[in-house]
Amino acid sequence: MLSIEQVGRRFAPGKAGATEALRDVSLRIVRGDFVALLGPSGCGKSTLLRLIAGLDQPDSGRLVWDQAPAPGEIGFVFQDSTLLPWASAAENVFLPLRLRGVARATAKNDVWAALARVGLAGFEQALPRELSGGMRMRVSIARALVTRPRVLLMDEPFAALDEFTRHRLQADLLALWLELGCTVVFVTHSIYEAAFLARRVVMMTPRPGQIGQEIRSPLWAERTRVDPAYTALVAEIGAAMDAAMVAADA
Ligand code: ADP
Repeated sequence: MLSIEQVGRRFAPGKAGATEALRDVSLRIVRGDFVALLGPSGCGKSTLLRLIAGLDQPDSGRLVWDQAPAPGEIGFVFQDSTLLPWASAAENVFLPLRLRGVARATAKNDVWAALARVGLAGFEQALPRELSGGMRMRVSIARALVTRPRVLLMDEPFAALDEFTRHRLQADLLALWLELGCTVVFVTHSIYEAAFLARRVVMMTPRPGQIGQEIRSPLWAERTRVDPAYTALVAEIGAAMDAAMVAADA
């Protein structure tokens, strides 16, 4: 679906000098896959995600799509739910459709269906401050899904949530991915999260960000955290991550 070819991104010099965020990054993303980009803070994961989203341009290399995504075909979910505080859940989910000129009455069914899909039926009129952190993130996911994206880009969406809520949302996200069949690229610095969610775990090395080892998950569909295959995967990713850090320090 997408071929990322020898992409580099360098940010203009600031007080701390220029930052080479990505160097020679090559990665192919296959339609329908669930890819976790895993690496320590500052290794360029968000930068890569923004390049995929078309929110930023590489300084070298290129991104080649089989079929260029139309507006609305890429959904983006950030770490913060970024909801309009004065607008109801339904109004927040309606926003991307409204920006594309869709009338409120036309959009209503899609908006309510998107909220129901993330478990928020009955909360359409609630304001963000009336919702828990997990529910706000669900609204944010519904807002990304309402345009029926082919690709869902998620930048540490659950990082600010408590462990209980995080586990619940991870399980629900997996169910959604199976139901919708879209491609997910999920940025995280959590080995456990990457192991639980992804079919492909792509590790990134510390700055300048480069693609390191890739580990394919043996898990499919119904996953539990007590599955020995899951714990073995956590151990394998952890060991690979340690080896990458040692290599980077050397
Ligand atoms: P990660 O998502 O892995 O934590 P980022 O992609 O956010 O990493 O950042 C990679 C590096 O690029 C960091 O050193 C960061 O400070 C720098 N960086 C990111 N965006 C910008 C920007 N707009 N201007 C300058 N430097 C940036």
